[in-house]
Amino acid sequence: MVSVLGSTGSIGVSTLDVIAGHPDRFGVYGLAASSSVATLLAQCLAFQPRYAVMMDAAAAEELRRQLPADCGTEVLQGEAGLSRIAAATEVDTVMAAIVGAAGLPSALAAARAGKTLLLANKESLVMGGHLLMQAVQQSGARLLPIDSEHNAIFQCMPVNPASAAPSLAGVDKVLLTASGGPFRQWSRARMDEATPDEACAHPNWSMGRKISVDSASLMNKGLELIEACWIFDLAPGQIEVVVHPQSIIHSMVQYRDGSVLAQMGNPDMRTPIAYGLGWPERLVSGVAPLDLIATARLDFEAPDEGRFPCLRLAREAVAAGGTAMAICNAANEIAVAAFLDGMIRFTAIPLVIEQTLERMTIVEPTSLAVVESADVAARSVAGERVATLLRGGRRAGVA
Ligand code: NAD
Ligand code: MG
Repeated sequence: MVSVLGSTGSIGVSTLDVIAGHPDRFGVYGLAASSSVATLLAQCLAFQPRYAVMMDAAAAEELRRQLPADCGTEVLQGEAGLSRIAAATEVDTVMAAIVGAAGLPSALAAARAGKTLLLANKESLVMGGHLLMQAVQQSGARLLPIDSEHNAIFQCMPVNPASAAPSLAGVDKVLLTASGGPFRQWSRARMDEATPDEACAHPNWSMGRKISVDSASLMNKGLELIEACWIFDLAPGQIEVVVHPQSIIHSMVQYRDGSVLAQMGNPDMRTPIAYGLGWPERLVSGVAPLDLIATARLDFEAPDEGRFPCLRLAREAVAAGGTAMAICNAANEIAVAAFLDGMIRFTAIPLVIEQTLERMTIVEPTSLAVVESADVAARSVAGERVATLLRGGRRAGVA
């Protein structure tokens, strides 16, 4: 039985699409979303889960009202409901596809309960990587990365057939590919004027708005660098970011004998999702086969950390260690939300993150409480930075 956390989002919908293609193989135990009643209702009717969780209390009440009496789905509300469907004994597989730091407690609950954890929610690893990896090891959970790059790396590495733990035997380095996002060729002055819709118009991938902005700023690649350090036990120096605009190669592993293994495919998240759901078997995913003749060429270039300072900030956060990564992640979430709300410029996102990191004290992330308090404090500092930019006018603080 599968629980899908964040079922109404881009990854959640793709996950249910793959599941719908294999009704003999998967049953849905729990679905969870923030507040979109209509989508969750339709999913309940189609998949008949045992539980549906809404984070928002009014939305939970509305869903209860709208579900037909004979549906058999019970509606739960809030974090307790989320952890319940992540850790229930009936569940063997949990898709963690909530966006942002809000996904950490439920991903941790699934890991502690020894589930097969399909991890799309990269922010939970960035924020609490130490805790999450420790929980996976102690409980015997299996972590299968769903982020396309990490899924590609996983596919290119030797993996323990029982625990799903990847091995670094013979590995020289990891080549983490990046599309470069919609602003790959934009000048800094042009990015200054970028609108939320322009930032969300990704050339290759269709995704939620927060990760789309992260892709445009290259913070997504910064978060993925941190994610790769945790999942594969790599030092940041063992990871090289390579811009590959076609998004056909999803990442590569370079071995000491000169071999480079790449995983390729059309940019469609149903491939890594089906890989996670079926592992170690391969399932039909609904993704069109790759046509290399039509693709014609694959290009590669170095990332420009001058125009995209978020990548540098993520590198600095991982080097600083401790709660620096949680602070970087929280400040980014606040800055991205402020940009999407039209409050700050696109180019002010790295400014808010850098100023927040400068103002905060970094400590050891010894418990979930410590990590969560760093997250809350960083959100407050980042919120002040946004307010200061607003008071100074829209151009203030932005070179
Ligand atoms: P999305 O915005 O489309 O969907 C987010 C989902 O999380 C929704 O179901 C929403 O209801 C739920 N949600 C939001 N806040 C919540 C909260 N506080 N509590 C519980 N549920 C909440 O996002 P997405 O694009 O599907 O991305 C989900 C995660 O997967 C992100 O961490 C993202 O970085 C990662 N990811 C996405 C893609 C992609 O192609 N979309 C690729 C790689 C990784
Ligand atoms: Mg990715």
